[in-house]
Amino acid sequence: MNEHDSERIGGLLSADGYVPTEEAERAQVIVFNTCAIRQNADNRLYGNLGHLRPLKERNPSLRIVVAGCLAQKDGGTIQARAPWVDVVVGTHALPELLGLLHASETEGPQMDVREYTEVFPSALPARREVAHHAWVSVSVGCDNACTFCIVPLVRGPQRSRAIGDVLAEVQGLARRGVVEVTLLGQNVNTYGRDVTVPDSARRPLFADLLRAVNDVDGLRRIRFTSPHPHDFTPDVIDAMAGSDKVCEHIHFPLQSGSDRVLKVMQRSYRRVRYLEWLDAIREAVPGIAVTTDLIVGFPGETEVDFEDTLDVVRRARFDQAYMFQYSPRPGTRAAQMPEQVPKEVVQARFDRLVALQGSISLDLMRQHVGRTVEVLVEGTGRKGAVQGRTRTNKVVHLPGELAPGTFLDARIVSAHPHHLMGEAVSSGEEGDRAALGVREAAAVG
Ligand code: SF4
Repeated sequence: MNEHDSERIGGLLSADGYVPTEEAERAQVIVFNTCAIRQNADNRLYGNLGHLRPLKERNPSLRIVVAGCLAQKDGGTIQARAPWVDVVVGTHALPELLGLLHASETEGPQMDVREYTEVFPSALPARREVAHHAWVSVSVGCDNACTFCIVPLVRGPQRSRAIGDVLAEVQGLARRGVVEVTLLGQNVNTYGRDVTVPDSARRPLFADLLRAVNDVDGLRRIRFTSPHPHDFTPDVIDAMAGSDKVCEHIHFPLQSGSDRVLKVMQRSYRRVRYLEWLDAIREAVPGIAVTTDLIVGFPGETEVDFEDTLDVVRRARFDQAYMFQYSPRPGTRAAQMPEQVPKEVVQARFDRLVALQGSISLDLMRQHVGRTVEVLVEGTGRKGAVQGRTRTNKVVHLPGELAPGTFLDARIVSAHPHHLMGEAVSSGEEGDRAALGVREAAAVG
């Protein structure tokens, strides 16, 4: 979501005549688009702002902008701690960015941290780093209340975009050469619960949206993130299985394998149910890759709880996991809980989890060696190679020069914990997308 918003910030500035520069000394505007998920984002923001102070003193016409979740969370605190910041623009006020920027030139520091989204950032112009891929926001905010999470505070309750607006954006993107979209929502699979279909009392569902996006001509890959396991209904599994452009990858956040911890986290599923859902998804979409999020050291987590997490990780056999050491976020309920786990205990458990998941990831990656997979080139890779991605979201490095957006078939020659090495066996530009994907899925399965 943060990257999506950065594209819109870049798009707004481009529309106003700005061009990007890598050199802070030459910049007329510097924007920090911030994340509030972890404490170190706070620390880094204020550290970076401190470094910019001498530059601002030498060049008072420089505009410094803080956007994103930290802007929403901290509001006036930012300009109190760093009075040389010209604009603080929260998550709901992005469309106001240029107005705030211009007002700051004549009226001094500006701030807009309104608490309701009126215009979706997706309706704003975008400046994309790559031409073949686009993030498409389908909803913002979240109606859940996971006790460790700051998102409901900084992004507000869920608000879905009209299905027609999402489709119009995807159709326009496909006409301009975008071949892959990632549908975005904090809780993407509850999309539509808060809107109705025009001329009907019916609410569109995430499954309807997947099927409708699948019908867009020119598009070749559809991804989405992140679903909440509790809301992963059978109709979404059916839509995934029946939509040839929906990639064989799902990010399915577990967070903890302990029922006791899940309850305290206010995650409304339990370990057995989670594993049952995984079985159903894997049965419906053979070869699907599964990634997850895991938090180690949630307040009160005991050794037994942690062993439960290791147990689910062994059973689930995730392709990859984003593993986090719990850090209290001011404003969340978990931050107030007693029994915060000592740092050294969290570190030791984290190291054990990383070792276990690393061995599973490498084992699953090795199963690809010798297989032929479809790769979409994304950009420059290691040592002059290009980097691409399979439908199952595996990063592949390939020798040679290929433009981003190129499809090709590649034979996998070696495996590493986080990437594969391959060699091209065909241009892959011709042919049927669905057939290629099915072939890869079958091979992985
Ligand atoms: S569902 Fe996701 S975004 Fe919503 S509160 Fe829980 S962790 Fe945060």
